[in-house]
Amino acid sequence: MEKIKMTTPLVEMDGDEMTRILWKMIKDELILPFVDLKTEYYDLGLVKRDETKDQITKDAAEANKKYGVAVKCATITPNAKRMDEYKLHEMWKSPNGTIRSILDGTVFRTPITIPSIHPVVKNWEQPITIARHAYGDVYKSVEIRVPEEGTAKLVFEGKSGKEEVVIHEFKGAGVLQGMHNLDKSIRSFAHSCFKFAIDTKQDLWFSTKDTISKKYDAQFREIFEEIYNNEYKAEFEKLGIEYFYTLIDDAVARVIRSKGGFIWACKNYDGDVMSDMVSTAFGSLAMMTSVLVSPDGNYEYEAAHGTVTRHYYKYLNGEETSTNPMATIFAWSGALRKRGEKDGIKELMNFADQLEAACFDTLNEGIATKDLVNLMEGVTPKAVNSKDFIGAIRERLEKRLA
Ligand code: NAP
Ligand code: MG
Repeated sequence: MEKIKMTTPLVEMDGDEMTRILWKMIKDELILPFVDLKTEYYDLGLVKRDETKDQITKDAAEANKKYGVAVKCATITPNAKRMDEYKLHEMWKSPNGTIRSILDGTVFRTPITIPSIHPVVKNWEQPITIARHAYGDVYKSVEIRVPEEGTAKLVFEGKSGKEEVVIHEFKGAGVLQGMHNLDKSIRSFAHSCFKFAIDTKQDLWFSTKDTISKKYDAQFREIFEEIYNNEYKAEFEKLGIEYFYTLIDDAVARVIRSKGGFIWACKNYDGDVMSDMVSTAFGSLAMMTSVLVSPDGNYEYEAAHGTVTRHYYKYLNGEETSTNPMATIFAWSGALRKRGEKDGIKELMNFADQLEAACFDTLNEGIATKDLVNLMEGVTPKAVNSKDFIGAIRERLEKRLA
């Protein structure tokens, strides 16, 4: 069989620990035998990040902007323990944070669902994608522990004057918090959400608490409404998809009663909380995919989970591990499909479909990594290690492509 040709390189961002091991296995077994793979390779492993003073992360993000599509392996975000372990020169920032701020993007998380793993919420038939606004609010807030009686004020001083409101006349001790957001960031968030809805042909829900927060949350609602009406309404109508705004508490109630199959855009805190709820209810973190979409249409695909450190230490001890490669495989298939779409290469898009189908064939036969075995119903599961799992997918992929 002749290998599938590519025209534009994928930006390949390698990573750390167990996922770095899986990365090579996936490439060797599931990609390279079938695709004449073109990538621009960036090693975002912690050793290289330290060596380059983290310049490599910035270069990788710039390449993502240049070429449009990237695939990323999970990476270590250093903490004090990692400083010692890797003898780091500095506590480098989270690569995901750096890439997100350079691309100005929004993260969309979608569970991979299979018939033998039933969501805890029994009426969910389709995956629910959470889009989390990743800037501001409580994550960039300042706080004061109020020790005694006194007056708290909110003050803004600008070129054209000063605005001041009393927050509270404290009669005794309490707490105080100040937070902000930016029109520019909310606009980027809105564009990424509308683009992703069109891309995946799914309804878009957005929720805030604008009945209580009449300026702050209302600004989010208004920006979404304005951008939708001016730039996306016609396309949504053509595709038969809907933009739907509601209050966050109403959204929560409706999500639980829904059949799934839509995107739920959330403010920063809501997205943090709701994405953990949705991923747990669908099954396993190891089956959660993630894609960063920038407002100008650049994409970075990855698994939602981390580097699976506990399994890596076992691996280093020569022990066999049964780490689930599904989300990392789907990062590759997602990126290859998008590359195919952008370059008009049907074979590449088809390959991505077949790769995902081969993963489903494998799981539907009950062949699975250990994390899934206890979740499966209606099949007799057989737990295998990562290598055998990937091998089983390869067999089925070869059959499908033959
Ligand atoms: P993690 O790597 O996601 O793993 C947490 C636990 O979840 C694992 O110990 C494992 O449970 C289970 N798990 C996650 N992925 C799995 C998979 N593919 N197959 C089977 N089980 C899986 O999170 P962490 O241990 O908190 O973080 C480890 C490192 O990853 C940290 O250095 C962190 O900075 C980094 N991180 C990176 C990203 C990213 O690059 N996007 C995201 C999150 C964390 P059991 O041990 O019970 O089997
Ligand atoms: Mg969280």
